[in-house]
Amino acid sequence: MATSGLAIAAVAVCSGLSCTSQTVKTISLPPLPFPENGLEPLISAKTIAFHYHKHHKGYFENLNKLINGTEFYGMPLEKVILKTYGNDDKFQIFNNASQMWNHTFYWQSLSYNKMTEPSTQLKQKINKSFDSLEGFKKQLFDISTTLFGSGWVWLVSYRNKLEIVKTANADSPMIQGMKPLMTIDLWEHAYYLDYQNRRSDYIHTVIEKLINWEFASKNDENESYGH
Ligand code: MN
Repeated sequence: MATSGLAIAAVAVCSGLSCTSQTVKTISLPPLPFPENGLEPLISAKTIAFHYHKHHKGYFENLNKLINGTEFYGMPLEKVILKTYGNDDKFQIFNNASQMWNHTFYWQSLSYNKMTEPSTQLKQKINKSFDSLEGFKKQLFDISTTLFGSGWVWLVSYRNKLEIVKTANADSPMIQGMKPLMTIDLWEHAYYLDYQNRRSDYIHTVIEKLINWEFASKNDENESYGH
């Protein structure tokens, strides 16, 4: 599953005075997996349009500006994230790269009117870790609503167990070696036009009606980070 799209670009690679043209894979902005009005009336087309075209695309464009001509150009997005994390000089690259990845993963974590449900394997793991699907939803809600400021909440697989973790700002559970299965964007821009300050209503709606269980189940089965 393509989480971070890659495109092919020709770049000049120079050694001394001689330059040759080589092709490298560059990071591309994947399209939304649903139409802009595909989550209405729960999340409006206006929210999705702003969120995708201004925020997500903004991170993508900033990232490309920041890595152009650096060692990170042509590197897979996940590698850029892992290599820049915790490095003060690379803070801006990390933030934009990780936000780029997180948003692509978030879009895929959502679906509406598809009536997806966890695979048998994922359901068993959920029952083991949270007693029941309802128990999982309650814990996801409680953890999401107690995040202070901007960030993300994730269902992850870690050492063969499922966990719910929250990350601040642009942070990613991949840093801790965790495999994300789904996420919810808890930044204000994800819900403010529709829910204003009622973040818990947005969280409740996503948990009850918008989780793409097909995506989470596929990620559970994959060895890598779900792409
Ligand atoms: Mn966002």
